[in-house]
Amino acid sequence: MSDFPFTIMDVAYLLRLNIRRRGNPLVVYADCPICGEHRGRLGLYPQTNTWHCFHCGETGGMLRLYGQVHCTDNSQSFREICDTLAVGGFPAENRAPSRGGPERPTEMPASGRAPEREIHRTYKALLSMLTLTQAHREHLRTVRGLTDAEIDDFGFKSTPPGRLCQELTRKLTEQGFLVQGVPGFYVDDRGKWTVKFYQRTSGFLIPQYGVDGLLHGLQIRLDTPIRDGSGSTEKKGAKYLPLSSSGKNFGVTSGSPVHFVGDPHARVVYVTEGALKADIAHAITGRTFAATVGANNTGGLDELFSFLSRNGTEEIIEAEDMDKHHNAGVFRGACAVHNLALKHNMACRQLNWDPAYKGIDDWLLAVKRNKNIKE
Ligand SMILES: [Zn+2]
Repeated sequence: MSDFPFTIMDVAYLLRLNIRRRGNPLVVYADCPICGEHRGRLGLYPQTNTWHCFHCGETGGMLRLYGQVHCTDNSQSFREICDTLAVGGFPAENRAPSRGGPERPTEMPASGRAPEREIHRTYKALLSMLTLTQAHREHLRTVRGLTDAEIDDFGFKSTPPGRLCQELTRKLTEQGFLVQGVPGFYVDDRGKWTVKFYQRTSGFLIPQYGVDGLLHGLQIRLDTPIRDGSGSTEKKGAKYLPLSSSGKNFGVTSGSPVHFVGDPHARVVYVTEGALKADIAHAITGRTFAATVGANNTGGLDELFSFLSRNGTEEIIEAEDMDKHHNAGVFRGACAVHNLALKHNMACRQLNWDPAYKGIDDWLLAVKRNKNIKE
């Protein structure tokens, strides 16, 4: 039984693979998008959601297949697949037939995105109704190195149990908050507005603020990462999920909001991926950080850099994860940061650190803890 909200046939559909033949229920043959052979030598195995190319020898799980084509890491692949298939991280029900052709479900009516100020008000009110569990607070304290005051300031909250979703939404509407067009909210099968929190995607919420000081999105840091089924060369599963209701009745996609923490007039602004990373790095250094959802979601940076440049920022420091030196996807994202900085007449340099630490937050935390030991 797959732990994924999609199947390998969904991924085959997304990649527009040319299906050659369906030998038996266990294997479907397609042309390999990695080596480009055209004789249907790529075997797709729907029962295990794995694949193997008998031409180039490449093999793996669903995220790797997608990642090999799009140069994305597992997390990024997972996000993109979910977003395109409009499943927000919960198991597919009767979606693709098990031996799957490229038939897709009928489209649900969607909502347009609500005005940003309304989204901000609704999210603020929603967060005020939620609490942070002791376990999550402990994680933020010990693993992430944040103080209680910082944890409260950033506004992390635990996701509510699914059974409270409808009541929370009812309270919000009663108090005059808009839910239609706010990512995460949708109309359920019984015609009632609700918000999309599930048991299997439980975790804590990371608020994503824009440079305008408004809350534009919420990210869930999952308690249980969603893993690729192959168990082969895959590293870790996807750990972050946007709160989104795309694909749901009157739902709306999260988009890819850029998180901003610090001074909107800072002379120097650091750019990384992941709101939590930026929050931690800001807490340690006091510097100003912008964070995209993934290293490749650089779309929102154009507008942000244009604003920062007008606001007096002179230098952008690209602080993407250290795998930018061997991960093509992250490298591509890092290059985009440099190009956008130049486009908006700001200097740009790359920050590098001990590659034993992947993210800037990991490295800064290690430095801080070392210092504490020496003192
Ligand atoms: Zn191949």
